[in-house]
Order: sequence, then C-alpha cells, then structure tokens
Amino acid sequence: MWKEMLLQLLIALLPVFLFLVWFDRPDRTRRVSLFLAVFCGMAMLLDMRLSVVLEQGIHFDLRHIPLIIGSLYGGVTVAVFLSVLYAGARLFEVLSPSKMMLLGFFMVIFIPPLIRHSLKFPQYGRIRRYKIALLLFALVFGIYIVVTIMVGYGSAPVRFWNGSGVRLAYWAVFLFGIVTSVYFLELAFERVQLQRELQDISHKYRGEVQRLQQFIDQAPLVVIIFDAEGYVTHVNEETLKLIDPLGLSSKDLLYRHFEDITHLGGIVHNSPIERNLRGEERIVEMIDFGGKTFYTVTCTIKDQGSQLPEGIMFIGHDVTELQQLKDEVGRMERLSLVGQMAASITHEIRNPMAVIRGFVQLLNERSPSEQQSYFHIVLEELDRANGIINDFLSLAQNRIVEKEFSSLHEVMSDLTPLLRADANMRGQMVETSLNQETEPLAINSKEIKQLVLNLARNGMEAMKDKGILRIETVNLEDTVQLRVVDHGVGIPQEKLEHLFEPFYTTKANGTGLGLSLCLSIVERHNAKIEVESVVGAGTTFIVTFCKPGRQCR
Ligand code: ADP
Ligand code: MG
Repeated sequence: MWKEMLLQLLIALLPVFLFLVWFDRPDRTRRVSLFLAVFCGMAMLLDMRLSVVLEQGIHFDLRHIPLIIGSLYGGVTVAVFLSVLYAGARLFEVLSPSKMMLLGFFMVIFIPPLIRHSLKFPQYGRIRRYKIALLLFALVFGIYIVVTIMVGYGSAPVRFWNGSGVRLAYWAVFLFGIVTSVYFLELAFERVQLQRELQDISHKYRGEVQRLQQFIDQAPLVVIIFDAEGYVTHVNEETLKLIDPLGLSSKDLLYRHFEDITHLGGIVHNSPIERNLRGEERIVEMIDFGGKTFYTVTCTIKDQGSQLPEGIMFIGHDVTELQQLKDEVGRMERLSLVGQMAASITHEIRNPMAVIRGFVQLLNERSPSEQQSYFHIVLEELDRANGIINDFLSLAQNRIVEKEFSSLHEVMSDLTPLLRADANMRGQMVETSLNQETEPLAINSKEIKQLVLNLARNGMEAMKDKGILRIETVNLEDTVQLRVVDHGVGIPQEKLEHLFEPFYTTKANGTGLGLSLCLSIVERHNAKIEVESVVGAGTTFIVTFCKPGRQCR
C-alpha cells in the first residue's frame, strides 16, 4: 500500500522535477504551457492508471496534483485541456452511477474555480499562489467528504473515519505533494526571473561600458589609462592620432611602463604619473608635446567600494589654438594701446595745425600774387594732412554711434549732388538707381554718407576719364543692399584680401584708410561688405544691411 502511494507521489511530482531541470533559461518561458500540458497530462493519466484501491473499493490516487499544478502554472488553455483530459479519462474508467455522480459533481464544483484561478494566477504574488493551490486542495477534499457522506460508496457514511489511517495518510501525502510542487515551481520561476534580471543588468552594464569606451575613444581628448603599477592599459584614438606623425603606434604605448611613455614626451623626472604613484591624487599641468600645448589632468581611479587606487587616468586637452589666441589677444591689446596713444597724439596735432593754417591763410592774403601759388600748395597739403588725421581719428576712436531709423534712399538723395559735383570735376558721371521702397534701417546717416563717399571716390579714382559710376539700392527679403559699381581697373585677387587693412593703399597719395573706415562703419551697423571685381572690367562693392527684426547671417 505504502509503496503504491509513494509511486503515486513520484508520478505526481515528476512533471515538477522535470520542469526544474528543463526550465533553466528565460527563453524557455514561451514553451512553459506546452511542457506543463504534456507532462502534467501524462502524469495525471499515469496516476489514474496506477490508482490504489483501498478497502470498500475506493480508489485513491494523486491525479489532482498534476491537474491543479498544470492548470495554475500553465494558464487557462492548459487548464481547459487538462480538465477535458481528466473528464475523458474518467468517463473511460467510470461505470457505476454513484461514481458518475461523483464525476459530475466534481466537474461542476471544482473545474470552474480551477479555470478561473488559472486565468489570473501569473499576476499573483507568491503567498497568494500558495493560498490558491491550498484552496483547490481543500475543494477536492471537501467534495470527497461530501460525496462520501452523501453517497458513502454504498456503505455507511461513518465509515469514512473508521480505522482509516491510510486515508488520512493519503490526504497528508496529497497536501505534501501540492505544497512541494508549488514550492519547486516557484523556485524554478524565481531562478529564471533572477537570471533574466541578471541578463538585463549585465546588458545594461555592457551598454554603459561600451558607451563610456566610445566616449573615451571619440572625445577630442588624449586619454591614457594606467594600472596601479603604472603600466598602460588603454590609449584612445586621439592619443594614437597624436603619436602617429612620430612614427609610433599603439604597440609602443600599450602595456609599457609609464617611464617609457613619459620619456617619449620628453619628461624624465617628476612626471604627473610618477607624482600620482607617490600619492598625489590630482595633478593639473600644462605640457608641451609634439609642438602642441596640452592642459592635462592626471587622477587616480579608485575602486568604488574599497576606495583603493586601481589605476591612473591621464587626460590631455589640446589648447594650442587657445594659447595662440590668448597670445594674439595680448598682442592686439598692446597694439590697441599704441593706437590709442597715436590717436591722442594725432588729436593734439590738429590744434597747432589749425593755427598754422589760419596764419598761412593770412600770409597768403597779404603776400604778393606771384607767391600765392606756393601758399596754395602749402594750404592744400595742410588740408590733405588734416583729412588723413580725420580719417585716422574716426577709425581709431571706434566710438558708439547714435542710430535712427531712416531709409537709404533719403541718405542717398542728400549725397547725390555732392557726388555729381565730384564726378563732374573728373569729367565722369554718376548714375543712381535707388529703390524707393527700401524699409527704414537703424543707421547713422553721417556715417553712411561717409561710407558711400569713400566707396564712390575709390570707384571714381579707379576709372579713367568719362567713366560712369553707378550707385544702386536693392530691396531684398531680409536685407537691403547698397551697391557701388565702377568700370575701373579692377582689383587683382592677391590684393583683395588686403583691401580693408588700415594704411593699405596702391595710390601715390592715398592714405589706405578709406576702406578700413568703411569696414568699421559697416560693422557698427551690423552689416557686411563684399567686393566683386574683375581686373580690367570693374569693381562692385556691396554693403548688405539687415532689416530690423530679421535674422540675417
Ligand atoms: P586709398 O583710397 O587711400 O588708397 P582705400 O582704403 O580707400 O585707400 O583703398 C585701398 C586700396 O584699395 C586702394 O589703394 C586701391 O588699390 C584699392 N581699391 C579700393 N577701391 C577700389 C576700386 N573701386 N577699384 C579698384 N581698386 C580699388
Ligand atoms: Mg580711398
């Protein structure tokens, strides 16, 4: 009897043990239902087949264990499948009407809650799952008692408890089987869940490491990582790019001791790595290497838990350009100081020159007429010097100008008579094509007049007699353009880049200040100036103003 009971238990638990062996990876989750349907079904049939016959012809077996466990853990489809299998197998073996009744009773009372619980079972917590399994056990037990008492299998109902230690043992084994099955299945699922979490974590970790690796390799920084003994363990792309011109490759750095590396960089003593190994945790230094200047940080890599040093990280940022820029700014500052001094000296020269001019004028008026041509030359030269001083001062002072809204058209109308008179004297002509619809711009009219005058004079000077100078204003979507077009000698390519430099001139009595003054005016108006020129055909200067409230490049 006990032997048979043990066999029953082993068969009932067989699906669970097989499951434990089989369900060892998260990718098996999809086939859990199929597995449980097949093995629980088989175990159920086997249990039925090897049913133990107790006294009074009562069959005892543990078929309910695979039925309950398979249904709950396999889901609703498996529950329906096992129920149908159960009923079919029972029908096969059942003959007597009382047993038919028991089956009917069982199907009506037990199967619906089994299917209902199997529906939501996966969403429950562990304790609730135990409770449901125990509840179903209690239901089977209850049905058995009710049926035994009611029908009594043809004997007196009281018999149920009479001398039935075996039956008690049977129910104890049943309970043990249910609890053990749930315990082991939970264990299997928990194990796989843990595996899945571990996989997720390691996946994330790997991603992080890869990202970090990519960052280190792609960052425009020289990164060299040393281990705690000072041997190189990693060098990034930027480092390789840096040493490539020196004929070195990663082989010359990787797994080498830091002293070999610092020797390459020309540092023999007291390298930051050496200092770090001696205990300094963070060293910031400027280092020159391969004609470049690097801002470097050397720091200790520590184990997050124990805080013990695990290695050294050397990071270098190429600041050569920044350094050059800094030097340049310093130079500019000194130059600007010289410029300011020149400006104040020039300013001071203006006063005595005004006095000189006044007296020369006086002398001129009082002198005999044959000497007047000399005075005339002196006066002209004084005026020219004064012009240079004025231009230079406007350039050097670079003051903030007041702007007001007025249209280019108005400015040009004021200026045109002057330009015409100028052109007339040279035997040339000025043609204007002014767009009446140009929007008002925030400009300083005085400065814009100066700008046009400078450009126009240059144009006239570049043309031979009888040339025609064109001045146009063009209304574009976001901008207004001013164009000064001449048909003069043109400007060769190599001279174009020097045009706006102060004191650049190709004329015998030019100052070279006209265009640089134009440039500073243009910059003060947030505009831009461009030159298009064809040698022998002419030149066009284009000044582009941004309309108020528009975005211009
Ligand atoms: P300057 O007129 O006193 O020489 P600018 O700064 O006005 O000084 O001009 C600098 C130089 O640019 C001129 O000497 C000339 O060589 C060249 N240049 C300027 N405008 C023109 C032009 N429209 N056509 C040809 N060359 C020009
Ligand atoms: Mg000029």
